[in-house]
Amino acid sequence: MRLVLVGPPGAGKGTQAQFLASHYSIPHISTGDIFRANLKEGTPLGVQAKTFMDRGELVPDSVTNEMVRDRLTKGDLANGFLLDGFPRNVAQAQVLRDILKEKNTPLDAVLELIIETKEIVLRLSGRRTCRNCGKVWHLTYEKPTSAGICDSCQGELYQREDDKEEVVTRRLEVYEEQTAPIVAFYKGEGLLISISATGPVSEITDHAIQALAKS
Ligand code: ADP
Ligand code: AMP
Repeated sequence: MRLVLVGPPGAGKGTQAQFLASHYSIPHISTGDIFRANLKEGTPLGVQAKTFMDRGELVPDSVTNEMVRDRLTKGDLANGFLLDGFPRNVAQAQVLRDILKEKNTPLDAVLELIIETKEIVLRLSGRRTCRNCGKVWHLTYEKPTSAGICDSCQGELYQREDDKEEVVTRRLEVYEEQTAPIVAFYKGEGLLISISATGPVSEITDHAIQALAKS
């Protein structure tokens, strides 16, 4: 299964990706997570990405495309992959198509998660992320047992800089202007499957698996 997840920030891509990646036994490749891991390690890539991430802007295509090209050469892709957060504009989608064409491994589907803006704001403002393992929690919807502590690894939970209100507004604009057009691109390619991203996490996963099985 070679799958791309598309949807605005906060739609639940990372949350669904964990379950879908486990269901299909494929790696979850999140470009946001790769940038954050580089940031944590203080690599030149992380330093370069930070200025864009903190402002809610896209990291330049030249940097992002090469990072993804490199990731897609790794030896863990025999069963496929689940891309989360890439592509984020039509130029990236074209580069992805070319990379996969070279490898003779085209995408099977693009799953769009649909959600209202009002709900996005609630999800992003309450999102807390584990500093240690990266697991995502929510102050109301997915509460850790002890406030501020990750149930999985006991790491400290923090609020992402780019989940603060000023940056969220810009990220939503960037989504509409730059990322939303890939939905039409993939519709044209006959790959698009759209489902609602509202409701309990496990129901959304079930709908996704059913919709993918039908396609
Ligand atoms: P994305 O990867 O699309 O930015 P996340 O998966 O990080 O989104 O989810 C954003 C926030 O919303 C997280 O705090 C997560 O716990 C919460 N969340 C995800 N899916 C749901 C859902 N179906 N219902 C309620 N909250 C959710
Ligand atoms: P995410 O974790 O997917 O919300 O991504 C966090 C931030 O990382 C984004 O707001 C961008 O600044 C950057 N980023 C992630 N994926 C991409 C991408 N495909 N292209 C450009 N920037 C990206």
